[in-house]
Amino acid sequence: MNSFEYNINPSRVVFGSKSINKLPDEIKRLESSSPIILTSKGNSGESHGELLAKVLEDASITPAGILNMAVMHTPTSVTEQALHSLKSQDADCIISIGGGSVVGLGKALSIRTGLKHICLPTTYSGSEMTPILGETDNGKKVTRSDPNILPDTVIYDVDLTLSLPVTICSTSGVNAIAHAVESLYAKNANPITNMLALEGVKTLAEALPAIVQDPTDRSAREKAQYGAWLCGVCLGSSAMALHHKLCHTLGGSFGLPHAETHTIVLPHALSYNAPAIPEQMEKLASVLPGSEGDAIEGLNVLLEKLGVSRALKDYGMEEEDVDKATEIAMGVQYANPRAMEKDGIRELIRRAWAGEAAR
Ligand code: NAD
Repeated sequence: MNSFEYNINPSRVVFGSKSINKLPDEIKRLESSSPIILTSKGNSGESHGELLAKVLEDASITPAGILNMAVMHTPTSVTEQALHSLKSQDADCIISIGGGSVVGLGKALSIRTGLKHICLPTTYSGSEMTPILGETDNGKKVTRSDPNILPDTVIYDVDLTLSLPVTICSTSGVNAIAHAVESLYAKNANPITNMLALEGVKTLAEALPAIVQDPTDRSAREKAQYGAWLCGVCLGSSAMALHHKLCHTLGGSFGLPHAETHTIVLPHALSYNAPAIPEQMEKLASVLPGSEGDAIEGLNVLLEKLGVSRALKDYGMEEEDVDKATEIAMGVQYANPRAMEKDGIRELIRRAWAGEAAR
């Protein structure tokens, strides 16, 4: 076995149906008593905030406030606004409930204030498992990593995900798969993250089509949440490469939606890297049903079953943005198993833009 280094990110996980009811104990465990609740703007945000406030009220904990303001890609302008409210409300810990956008705002506030952070994720983004914060300022996404960004406690309660629409389940689940895929060929890949990645992909590749077939299938939703947790651990412990960098460029510079972009780009990014990673491709194929030994085919089969959009142009990306995205992507240096060749990267982005199948 090759030698390797593996850093375990020290966060606490409470997993299981109805575990939202353990929140009051988790707040006390962190020696806090006056949490501020963060939710996303619109959709499920307000109902999640009310749900949490009720759980806290039953335990005689009064929230310092509820902020329904998180939006995608963590714009610093929103964080500044939230910080202002937080300071005027005398909170002693942060609770984020929602998808990666809310978790992102929680991280941005926690790193700025030093307050403890409890997350209740309701999508499969995996952000809650990482010490990484991506923030958008003036149309550019800047990412930083700091152990203090990692949330202190994560409560995975499947019941909070039951309202997640099937299309978001699918794209968010493939976003999670992307974390695991890139960890397999990360420059710091190791047997532990490989194991987590393959189990995560296998679990999600089984659970997501089951959710599409029957959105009320609670056991499939719980499996998907478990798989997403494992994939999130991979994201938090591995150096991401081409796929994530491209998605950051596309999301931050062209305002494309996060999980949908990951879903469209993943087969193309993997196809670009495939010649440099034959062993990883074989392992990945072994956990993707219908792959017949070909991981790209396995992903195509999965995306077909999920019925998700395959074209970035469906989300408003213009054809002329293909060249701009290529320039930005080529300007960022990072480790990738295959050298970045401009023509190949442009073709990858063009195919993803047009919605052509990866091969
Ligand atoms: P999101 O948080 O914006 O959620 C997507 C949509 O789903 C929103 O409209 C939201 O209101 C809705 N939603 C969430 N939970 C719901 C529920 N239970 N029922 C009904 N609707 C629900 O999107 P996301 O894909 O979860 O996260 C994307 C963000 O997270 C991006 O900003 C991305 O950069 C960030 N992210 C960061 C990391 C990291 O490690 N730093 C990792 C992954 C994602």
